[in-house]
Amino acid sequence: MAVFSLPEEMFGFYKKNIDYLSEHAVDPDKRRYVLKNEFSRHYIDLDHWEEQPFDTIPRDLSLAVMKYGRLIAVRGEDTILISIADTFRQKFYFKYLYENPYDARVDIDADFSLDSLGIKINCQECHFIFENIFVGYGVLPYFLESYYHRLVLAFQAVDKDRILKISADLGHYIADAHVPLHTTENYNGQLTNQDGIHAFWESTLPEFFADSEYDFMAGQAEYIYDKHQRIWDTVLESHTHLKILLAAERELKSSYNEDQIYCFSERSGSTAKMPCREYAQAYHRALNGMVESRMRASIKTVADFWYSAWLDAGQPVLEY
Ligand SMILES: [Zn+2]
Repeated sequence: MAVFSLPEEMFGFYKKNIDYLSEHAVDPDKRRYVLKNEFSRHYIDLDHWEEQPFDTIPRDLSLAVMKYGRLIAVRGEDTILISIADTFRQKFYFKYLYENPYDARVDIDADFSLDSLGIKINCQECHFIFENIFVGYGVLPYFLESYYHRLVLAFQAVDKDRILKISADLGHYIADAHVPLHTTENYNGQLTNQDGIHAFWESTLPEFFADSEYDFMAGQAEYIYDKHQRIWDTVLESHTHLKILLAAERELKSSYNEDQIYCFSERSGSTAKMPCREYAQAYHRALNGMVESRMRASIKTVADFWYSAWLDAGQPVLEY
């Protein structure tokens, strides 16, 4: 749908390749269980780290990794937590994590002097590791921002295959950033006894109602002056919808019987347990257009980022 928001100079090329874009928009999810660093790019558990409004979560990945990570001395079975003075955190980061900020665990070289970080520790036969706890709870906004630059580079090189591949990928991550349940530790309602709400919200509702009721016209793409801000605004706005998203389902659940909530349907030869249509209809009404408006916002944001990358690359001619 984002293709239809693009200006004329981009529309022809994207329209011609719309099947490719549609088909490959799900590639990042297919890679989730295959590529080591893929998993955490799709979400950020904001509420694991801080409380709303989340101002104190560093917007720079290196600072976030250092803030929430742990330096540990290990000797045999014993481990000791070492605190790194704030003044040395950046230095440590650039020495160990700059190249691979997504590595969950980093071994510190035996000959690296912790002294130089202001860490005084007397521990014979110790070895040191840094646990990058932050990445496991998601890096979506950080990754998205860095990935955007790859699209600009692809446009600059007028490398059509790369433009299409990155456009499809980027669209996926942007869409994920619009899903409230991608911004919370309670991503599947598992902490509030609402297991399955993830698929209910993002799959079942659109499957039932998108074709007949959603309006996807998002308007013309606009240039984004501050990409960083736009990405964070998106994620933070997604999170503000969580409360209603969860409360509405909790309330419904209390007034329906189990057999009115789940129905069995045939899907590609097997039987699947799914929310019943009537129950979905009630949830759809209670959300008052939330899924639709997040999807429409997502379409607009995808188009805005594609368009901005093309402009930032100097408006290359895209022959098709
Ligand atoms: Zn995803």
